[in-house]
Amino acid sequence: MMAEICSMCYKQIDEHKDGNGKVYWTQGHNAQPLVADDTGDASMLDHARCCDSCNDLVLEVRIMQAFGWQSVPQKVIGWFKDAKTASDMMMAHMRLTQLIQTLAEQTKEGV
Ligand SMILES: [Zn+2]
Repeated sequence: MMAEICSMCYKQIDEHKDGNGKVYWTQGHNAQPLVADDTGDASMLDHARCCDSCNDLVLEVRIMQAFGWQSVPQKVIGWFKDAKTASDMMMAHMRLTQLIQTLAEQTKEGV
């Protein structure tokens, strides 16, 4: 089975194995709403799967949306939608990672 590449960080998508070590899933996770799937370009930017660690970031954004946050998720989605190249995408991924870290620290400090 061919390993898929994460459309957010460009690392290999983790293979999920069953109890016997047999790979049963290589397609990662749905990266909505952070994928730029409307670029019309047959690059990796067009595919919408992400690895386990990026899925954690995607879930954070979905949780913000579920809590009714508007501006932060919209800003984040904008970074990804504006990404036209792999390096843009990795920059968007890095900014999101930093944002999540900052938010986590603020929560810990009880701000
Ligand atoms: Zn990834």
